[in-house]
Amino acid sequence: MEPLRDSWGREIRSVRVSVTDKCNFRCRYCMPAEGLEWLERDELLSFEEIERLVRVLASMGVDEVRLTGGEPLVRRDLPVLVRMLAGTPGVRDLSLTTNGVLLDRFAGPLVEAGLRRLNVSLDSLSHVRFAEITRRDALDRVLAGLEAAERHPELRPIKVNCVAIRGFTEEEVPALAELARRKPYVVRFIEFMPLDADQAWKGDDVLTGGEIRALIEERWPLEELPAKPSSTARRFRFADGAGEIGFVNPVSEPFCSTCDRIRLTADGQLRTCLFSRREWDLKSPLRDGSSDERLEELIRFAVAHKELKHKINDPGFVRASRSMSQIGG
Ligand code: SF4
Repeated sequence: MEPLRDSWGREIRSVRVSVTDKCNFRCRYCMPAEGLEWLERDELLSFEEIERLVRVLASMGVDEVRLTGGEPLVRRDLPVLVRMLAGTPGVRDLSLTTNGVLLDRFAGPLVEAGLRRLNVSLDSLSHVRFAEITRRDALDRVLAGLEAAERHPELRPIKVNCVAIRGFTEEEVPALAELARRKPYVVRFIEFMPLDADQAWKGDDVLTGGEIRALIEERWPLEELPAKPSSTARRFRFADGAGEIGFVNPVSEPFCSTCDRIRLTADGQLRTCLFSRREWDLKSPLRDGSSDERLEELIRFAVAHKELKHKINDPGFVRASRSMSQIGG
């Protein structure tokens, strides 16, 4: 089968699948306190529809699948979908991005179903500041969820993702870096991107990976580690060997030239870039009796129009057509 390539020659290997737009947190850099207008149940792709699309994509070489939301664990019976995808021919790598608050309950069933990698969003280790940024007093449950995940050696790496915001995250850096030193978690700092539903993002709010690295190196020297070409993160280890830290720098060090990702929204729209202004409807052909060949044709056509890069740093940058929780990380 011909690999799935865009018109810039990049081979698509990874799909991020949003299974719901709903979330049980209200992170300030993502959505308003009152939440957003949620999709109706019948607008969501069913597990069978998601499995079918992943199977068609895997047949074109897209072997990395990440489940996202909103918060994916609020979708009922998610381990059932994990089992379906873990058993799909061609799926080599299955991971999940979660806010962790339901992880203590689901870690076991997810691993049993075939999940092998995990990303947990965590922006602060202070109860007060955690509640300030998520609008939820749930830090202890997230930490309990991480510990539950830790008890499953098959589930590695466990990545802890912190969204870095100037004027907030600087204070969090030492504790989060220290977490990477004493726990089997890879802590990664992700630059704040203009995907907040409130549309309040400003370039000045971005605390860059380079600045955070300098803060960490005031205490602990770091050594860079090799990363796979399409990786979004620059990887570092502590020079004394005590753990790994990563920096995802889409604003200060864009990595679009090696992008191998596409996204599927919870309502069946294909997005070829996080910042796409255009989407490709796959739900209608899924529900109108179209063949797998027709789905493949539509996906190849969409990918042929994949954007070269984001334009965050360009004059006249126009925001994406959806906010982060409606796309999935
Ligand atoms: S901004 Fe778009 S092109 Fe760039 S890395 Fe992200 S998804 Fe890929």
